[in-house]
Amino acid sequence: MISVVLPAYNEKDNIVPAIKEISEVLKTSGEDYELVFVSDGSSDGTYDEILKASGEDPHVKGAEFSRNFGKEAAIFAGLSLAIGDAVIVMDCDLQHPVSAIPEMIEKWRGGAEVVEGIKKSRGKEGIFHRMFAGMFYGIMSGLTKIDMKASSDFKLLDRKAVDALLELPESNTFFRALTFWIGFKSDKVYYEVEERRSGKSKWSFKSLVSYAIKNATSFSTLPLKMITTMGWVFIIFALILGVQTLVKFFSGTAADGFTTVILLQLIIGGFVMLSLGIAGHYIARIYDEVKGRPRFIIRNTTGRLFKNTEE
Ligand code: UDP
Ligand code: MG
Repeated sequence: MISVVLPAYNEKDNIVPAIKEISEVLKTSGEDYELVFVSDGSSDGTYDEILKASGEDPHVKGAEFSRNFGKEAAIFAGLSLAIGDAVIVMDCDLQHPVSAIPEMIEKWRGGAEVVEGIKKSRGKEGIFHRMFAGMFYGIMSGLTKIDMKASSDFKLLDRKAVDALLELPESNTFFRALTFWIGFKSDKVYYEVEERRSGKSKWSFKSLVSYAIKNATSFSTLPLKMITTMGWVFIIFALILGVQTLVKFFSGTAADGFTTVILLQLIIGGFVMLSLGIAGHYIARIYDEVKGRPRFIIRNTTGRLFKNTEE
């Protein structure tokens, strides 16, 4: 059986088209399937749509969060509710083309345990968004040593990979990178990002920046180590400057060092604050993890949901 996990935040008008298009593709490929919608604290009646659909179609099941927990949480909730032998994660605004599904399944049948959806182009995005995304993925690829520029949350995971992901204890997850981290035999499917079917994107510049910081700090400790490196560079710099100052002092030419002092003040002050800030982000992550709160809270579920109620 194939499960399709669809995180949905205020996607009322996209639920029915998503069900229709995905079902069509899965039916023609002859697979048994289920569609797992997770309404991420939607306020526009998305869950009512899911509820209605699950009443009409036994393939549809759904869960509703008690509030908005974010797409990561919605994906993980979907993974934990899915019972398929393979799970496909895709956006329910249909920006991830359903036409790529048969190829994904084929690669999975051929032995791939993780099939990554790779964007051929980034679709229609604002220049600002594009620049920022480029920067973020450039940095993330460097930090994680994984090429993530074109990667997306559109993936097929074998049951083994899903279980491995669900076993990770951390609450700050980064789905896109974790599917690389868990290993397994992976393959790629290339796709063209489509236009959002209805409604508009949930990302603001602010939410993108916080997403970037959160993921960078939850996936890499390199920035933290960079603080130490920066410290060393400054100590060496200070030593050279110190020697020079002393030489000048003893040769009696010491004089207008004012500019240097001010510059050093500013530069060192800046780096100290930056370093504290970076360390602070990690402390915040640690704090989040230590609290051990669940990634999400489910208010309602619908459809034949849990593994043990399957029979
Ligand atoms: N989404 C979610 N929770 C959120 C934000 C988004 O579940 O807090 C879902 C959304 O419903 C969609 C997918 O994540 O199915 C991608 O979101 P969106 O289309 O807004 O992002 P974009 O495609 O512009 O990157
Ligand atoms: Mg979208």
